[in-house]
Amino acid sequence: MSAKILYGKEFAAQIKESARIEIEKIKNKFNVTPGLAVIIVGENPASQVYVRNKHKSCEELGIKSVVVEMPESTTKKELLAKIDELNADKTIHGILVQLPLPNAIKSYSDEILNRIDPMKDVDGFHPMNVGKLVTGTPALVPCTPAGCIEMLDLAGIPIDGKHAVIIGRSNIVGKPMLHLLMARHATVTVCHSHTKHLAEITREADILVAAMGKPQFVKADMIKPGAVVIDVGINRIEPKKLVGDVDFEAAVEVASAITPVPGGVGLLTVAMLMKNVVTAVKLQIGA
Ligand code: NDP
Repeated sequence: MSAKILYGKEFAAQIKESARIEIEKIKNKFNVTPGLAVIIVGENPASQVYVRNKHKSCEELGIKSVVVEMPESTTKKELLAKIDELNADKTIHGILVQLPLPNAIKSYSDEILNRIDPMKDVDGFHPMNVGKLVTGTPALVPCTPAGCIEMLDLAGIPIDGKHAVIIGRSNIVGKPMLHLLMARHATVTVCHSHTKHLAEITREADILVAAMGKPQFVKADMIKPGAVVIDVGINRIEPKKLVGDVDFEAAVEVASAITPVPGGVGLLTVAMLMKNVVTAVKLQIGA
């Protein structure tokens, strides 16, 4: 058996196309151009690539994109002041601070992210949006897990009643994924570094989500034959080689469907950001 490969490009194109249509409607009906501000502090090369991709996607879809580049030496106070300025700017509907922040201000990450107006919080990290997700009234949801759900829907893969196992419990991926899958009536098990007998649990999964940041950790014998495998991991193992958290070559023989790395979930994340900008605009203009 060889699994169906779930290429992110196809699904990302569909998500972006529906965002583009919504943006056109918003422009025509309300005379509003959606605006996204991305703040990047310092010169992390990976962050610069992510920010460029976000900017490019905005331009493709007709979103006004503002990249705010701040030096490595930026203080917490300066960054908070910039967020306040963007919160007050009516032409900006979405704000995100590219992570990770430089070491000097990294420990203030929560305080900094919490300063973003929840209505403009297109990363969905603000406690108010997290609370809404947990209580089942989601507005702005973290892009990566939301993209995974969107992909399953677009691929016609059912979630209701399935046993989903997530490896990883971060605020960015694992925890929101739990709530999104549970809201869609999956039975969800969340594993982490203290989980005992991990392989026994993952072998029970109809849908296995690997979000641990450990290169090729999930081997074929950890996957139930016919399972759907979503590999969120992005790990650089050589200067030019990225791999996921799943041993793709082996897993593809066991799973019924699997996302590749690169070319899988990563592309969905940016597409979902565009969708979140549309949601944020609608919230703000009452559309
Ligand atoms: P974190 O480091 O924040 O979390 C990793 C999680 O995996 C933790 O909950 C950790 O457990 C768990 N874990 C680590 N080792 C093991 C193990 N041996 N067994 C079981 N669980 C383990 O990572 P993120 O959630 O931020 O990211 C995860 C991966 O996804 C990374 O590779 C990252 O690059 C990628 N990523 C990809 C995105 C995309 O767009 N495709 C977006 C965001 C992330 P514990 O809590 O106990 O420490």
